[in-house]
Amino acid sequence: MRLAFVEDFRLALVVGDRVYPIPGARGARDPYRAQERMARLIAEFPRRRSQLEAHIRRAQADPGRTTPVEKARLRAPLPRPGKLICAAVNYLEFGQLPPAEQDCFLKAPTTVIGPGETIVLPDAQATIFHHEAELAVVIGKRASKVPPEKAMEHVFGYTCFMDISARGLNPNGRLSFFLGKCWDTFGPMGPWIVTADEVPDPHNLQVRLWVDDQLRHDYNTSDMAHKIPQLIAFASRVCTLEPGDVIACGTNHQGIGPVQDGETVTMEIERIGRFSVKVRDPLKRSWPKGIDTEFARRVIASARR
Ligand code: MN
Repeated sequence: MRLAFVEDFRLALVVGDRVYPIPGARGARDPYRAQERMARLIAEFPRRRSQLEAHIRRAQADPGRTTPVEKARLRAPLPRPGKLICAAVNYLEFGQLPPAEQDCFLKAPTTVIGPGETIVLPDAQATIFHHEAELAVVIGKRASKVPPEKAMEHVFGYTCFMDISARGLNPNGRLSFFLGKCWDTFGPMGPWIVTADEVPDPHNLQVRLWVDDQLRHDYNTSDMAHKIPQLIAFASRVCTLEPGDVIACGTNHQGIGPVQDGETVTMEIERIGRFSVKVRDPLKRSWPKGIDTEFARRVIASARR
């Protein structure tokens, strides 16, 4: 099943290329309230599933109650996740690296934007702003100190996530995840959540990202270093995960590249979906358009040191 927010954060199901509003779902102007509603639906999903399936059958018999997905304004499916945990250096970079020691960082919930919205580059002296296309895991059930063999029971589903990153903002020469990752709009997410039953093997999904028509990331999640059970075990050892929290699995840096003013960034994960956002830079900075091969090489070199 595909769970979405449309228009003013109204809960909906997406079936084929149609949007089915969930009966009784009200809009929420406040993204925090919307988050709460999606989190509740996720937590109650096992009980509500048959009711939602009955709703789909009724709507299929009466297509007037549905709208084409291309006419709907899709919103971020988890617009203010309580925790947005991102894996750091978590790919083997096409098998070129041994797994790095496990680590994660947090992005602010306020980084999240949805399909059709705009990444705004901040007035900060970064050397470059990069896209990172990532598979994101949506937590379905509270998880605290979960062993890897039980971890997948806590997965509700998956969505697409861009971990937009500012480079070179390192006060006192120290890498700052706050200045690198937490700027407003630096967490595009969408187009919806696909429930785990529709993704039989999350470790075999092609992830692609384009800037305008130029393909950048094109990698498979089979190259992930620490797999989803390890990510959940690691994160839940530190902090309790709640329904509606998100763990982004990291990126393969070999397709990384700049985002800059006027561009459209599109990402797609097979079986999950595709969405686009725009980029605005009030300072109109520019970088060579294409994969940042120099940075990609440096990721491999620094990991091998
Ligand atoms: Mn990342």
